Amino acid sequence: MEEKNISACPLNCWDTCGFTVTVEDDTVVKVEGNKQHPVTKGHICSRGRMLETRTNSPLRITKPLKKIAGNFEEITWKQALDEIAEKLISIKENDGTTAVLHSHDYSNNGLLKNLDYRFFNCYGGVTEVVGSLCWGAGIEAQIWDFGNSAAHAPEDIFKSKHVVVWGRNAASTNIHLFSNLIEAKKKGIHVTVIDPLYHQTAKLADTYIAVRPGMDGLLAIGVIKELKKMNALAFDFIKKYTYGYEEFEEYVDEIEMAEITEQTSVDEETIKKLAYQYSHGPTATFLGLGLQRYANGGHTIRLIDALVALSGNVGIEGGGANYGHLPVGQSFDVSNLLLENRKTASRTFTRMNQAEKILSEHEPPIKMAFVSRGNPLTQLPDTNRVEKAFASIDTVVVIDQFMTDTAGLADYVLPCTTVFEEEDIYYASMYHSYVNYGPKVVPPKGEAKSDLWIWRELAKRLGFGEDFAFSEEEFLKMGLQSLEKKGITLERIKAEGFVKLPVPDVPWSDFTFKTPTGKYEFTTTLPVKEGEEPALRFTYPLESVKSSKRKNYPYHLLSKHPARSNHSQNYHILNDHRVVVEISEKIAKERNLADSDEVIIWNERGEVSGQIKIMKKSHDDTINIDEGRWKKLGGTVNVLTSSGRSEIGLGGIQYDCLVDIKKSVIAQEQNNS
Ligand code: SF4
Repeated sequence: MEEKNISACPLNCWDTCGFTVTVEDDTVVKVEGNKQHPVTKGHICSRGRMLETRTNSPLRITKPLKKIAGNFEEITWKQALDEIAEKLISIKENDGTTAVLHSHDYSNNGLLKNLDYRFFNCYGGVTEVVGSLCWGAGIEAQIWDFGNSAAHAPEDIFKSKHVVVWGRNAASTNIHLFSNLIEAKKKGIHVTVIDPLYHQTAKLADTYIAVRPGMDGLLAIGVIKELKKMNALAFDFIKKYTYGYEEFEEYVDEIEMAEITEQTSVDEETIKKLAYQYSHGPTATFLGLGLQRYANGGHTIRLIDALVALSGNVGIEGGGANYGHLPVGQSFDVSNLLLENRKTASRTFTRMNQAEKILSEHEPPIKMAFVSRGNPLTQLPDTNRVEKAFASIDTVVVIDQFMTDTAGLADYVLPCTTVFEEEDIYYASMYHSYVNYGPKVVPPKGEAKSDLWIWRELAKRLGFGEDFAFSEEEFLKMGLQSLEKKGITLERIKAEGFVKLPVPDVPWSDFTFKTPTGKYEFTTTLPVKEGEEPALRFTYPLESVKSSKRKNYPYHLLSKHPARSNHSQNYHILNDHRVVVEISEKIAKERNLADSDEVIIWNERGEVSGQIKIMKKSHDDTINIDEGRWKKLGGTVNVLTSSGRSEIGLGGIQYDCLVDIKKSVIAQEQNNS
């Protein structure tokens, strides 16, 4: 018999869609959008729909696996958990708990997914990865500027006169913003897209600006200079509510407009038009994540924030520097779940450079890696080194649903449930402020177990079973404790399916900021780490027009999110082996390349082969290869990217990447024969 259930998308995505899931005979048969959801309104993307395929796929791992003499063999859960627990006990006794690395990311969200920290804290504290491949520099930047990273409610866009989408391909990664952009245009709101890539969102725009990769901050300075010239700065706001403006103004005055136009590839006329739009607001700015994946990424976000602030677009309806939306996640009592006080030892590696650290840290050396909610062999930068590092570890345990690149390298693979086979609540600190309920609607496939079940069983074997002796419902209630006083209970979330969290629709409307001075800060007064510049500055990316590397590697490589796969999650289901190398028309001409030509792209870190697709209108020196592709399905772009970290915050710098490209004569001949 067919039944329909309310559910939610768990993927690491801006939109956190509400689902309606059709179940027949204990099998998910269809995933659709929940039309009642106030933000996502029944509209979901193919990545969400493919969760049905992921759940039912014959490629699912359904039993625990152990690698014996180079091959995986099925074993019982008892054997897997007993052996892993035994190794954890032995490592604790002989090397200390920090000889265990917990290498994780955010492939599937949900409040209960945070319980992995609880497990490792109770074990005694392991080596944790910190920082973000995704948005770390920008989050730190907004904390310096505003004291937090907070976005306007989605519908606030309709109060804008102008909208600037700066480096966010909403058509692919934030589909409900894209729908709102279509509506906004119909209402006569002017939409500008600034991006090196001429993507689907750029095609929608009234104005498209092809900025040189990594130069967005310099462009923001150009617009600020123009606003000054027009005498159009928000002087009242600056005087009453900001700190450090004079110093920043002096700095802006020192930069010549000629340098800005040359390095950004944006002409003065276009900069003037942007200044007009910012001064005739309200103007909403939607910042993407790619533009801060450079060494200078934090300052880039800070400079765009400064433009939004100086033009009077902070704290007003229809305005905003919309990047992250941390108050959503901050609404929950996640700390209740973690038991931080149980940790007696700790060590951290940055997420980006965990491979170098695995290879170089000897006090203690990493003896075991536990990988959950991630596929580091595909997603971490500088893949060749990552592979070497993980291969050097005595025991690698991977919790996953499929045999990813990382799982393939593991000693134990523990099969876990999908979103439809477990209960949780879902939210994202990115776009809207609704929390969604996701019940268990089908039984797990084979012997797959939830992450929580795995932590519980291991905890029992390690002597701290009582710390996990709580049901899913009890853990969820722990995380909802402070919201209950505001009427947001688990019962209500279950009954209604989605509930709006108590988060302001227009952040900073009282002009009181969460910085140490209570003001918007152009120069941060927060304590900074060694090497961090507290004043607002533009610096060139590490690999840019200014770097010596450019002589050998003249083109900028970007690696945007794929449209049909949340990072690496769907390539095996799509059975897609073709690496698509998107290049500008200028590069095609310079290297004599045509659509479908086979090429090699390389730099000092590695090389990738693929097939050419020429992009119209994109920035002249730009190449894109979508991230997420598995090694066995053509190879990951991260073979080429850098494991460095951003100047401020702990952000990845994968877009700070110069490469060269040439026709692959051998591949071409093979294709022709
Ligand atoms: S991936 Fe994003 S847009 Fe797609 S269904 Fe999930 S939350 Fe919605």
